[in-house]
Amino acid sequence: MGKVMVIGCGGVASVAIHKICQNDEVFTELCIASRTVSKCDALKEKLEGTTKTKITTAQVDADDVEALTELIKKERPEVVLNLALPYQDLTIMDACLAAGVHYIDTANYEPEDTAKFEYKWQWAYRERFKSAGLTALLGSGFDPGVTSVFTAYALKHYFDEIQTIDILDCNGGDHGYPFATNFNPEINLREVSANGSYWEDGHWVETKPMEIKREYDFPQVGKKDMYLLHHEEIESLAKHVPGVKRIRFFMTFGQSYLTHMKCLENVGMLSTSPVMFEGREIVPIQFLKALLPDPASLGPRTVGKTNIGCIYTGVKDGKERTIYIYNVCDHQACYKELGSQAISYTTGVPAMIGAALVANGQWRKPGVYNLEEMDPDPFMEMLNQYGLPWVVDEHPATVE
Ligand code: NDP
Repeated sequence: MGKVMVIGCGGVASVAIHKICQNDEVFTELCIASRTVSKCDALKEKLEGTTKTKITTAQVDADDVEALTELIKKERPEVVLNLALPYQDLTIMDACLAAGVHYIDTANYEPEDTAKFEYKWQWAYRERFKSAGLTALLGSGFDPGVTSVFTAYALKHYFDEIQTIDILDCNGGDHGYPFATNFNPEINLREVSANGSYWEDGHWVETKPMEIKREYDFPQVGKKDMYLLHHEEIESLAKHVPGVKRIRFFMTFGQSYLTHMKCLENVGMLSTSPVMFEGREIVPIQFLKALLPDPASLGPRTVGKTNIGCIYTGVKDGKERTIYIYNVCDHQACYKELGSQAISYTTGVPAMIGAALVANGQWRKPGVYNLEEMDPDPFMEMLNQYGLPWVVDEHPATVE
């Protein structure tokens, strides 16, 4: 049916690209474009012969709008799937506008020199995408992404009004290292070491990092400690779920991870400000990234499951109701299928689904949108089809 260009060729992109090749009815052609072209070539070689999708590769620096626009114009994809880093979101959106193609990403824009993420920079593109007749779909990963679609699904099929949303992200996987991150270490550590916040009664409530801790007994994983974090979908759900009173996001962490992170933070290794070292500038958190295991290498070592989902309370037909929609994903099953761990898998699958729904026209709507603004049903169906089946529990335990 059409051509997709994937930008980036890391852990998440590798899964999305495998799934694009499984969906060769929609994606007849694929261009993998990234900073290090050898990674794109290696993946192309691995996939050729297993799919009808025609694959090409290209080298590109996605910070360079002009070069990227030229490449998009030359390759002529219908959609660009941005799986580079959140720092590249705006330059890739600019290039998509200049070249006249639809845009999809998984994480909202962050300036490289400040650990701060907000939708305002990307929402500001709404009029430009609208008048160009192009769709930009923001945050088509798991959280945000699947959690946003779960919310639209709950609202469509289970509630007249949703009052509270608790998003629970549990990684019960064990990779055997004392300290490693499951996706890009720089992005992950910036997110986790920042202040927490949640939405209540129409405003943000800010907390210290890791200040709010709860325990939850996750289906198929067991009891885990989880901590309240700021997370990007809270901002868009607060805007798009009418009448919602409270939205919180919790993520599980083991004690070893937290102790290492605190120590690294105390010695300045999480800093994003450059320091001079032996006559050259280095950014401490980027140096740390070079020392830590590559998330892509965790696949064979990681055992256990993830459980990510949302607990909703609200009202249906005048009666109070609580439901929990979640997905459980097994690290070793992901590794067996695609050679990846579950964090890349649970992000890469929805990235492909978002791109497919824009490519096949079902989610094509001029402007800039978050996933909860779209019809959830075709996405929910494709989650079951492409390896992320979900469960609706109508009598779950709630979080205090
Ligand atoms: P990786 O670091 O593994 O991969 C990033 C890729 O982008 C690499 O191939 C890198 O190239 C490439 N890249 C970086 N900068 C540029 C540039 N300027 N031009 C071209 N290519 C570039 O990251 P992940 O795969 O772990 O994460 C990818 C994205 O997914 C991130 O934005 C992350 O925040 C998001 N994510 C979203 C989640 C969700 O649930 N919504 C969950 C997890 C991640 P090189 O090979 O040269 O380094």
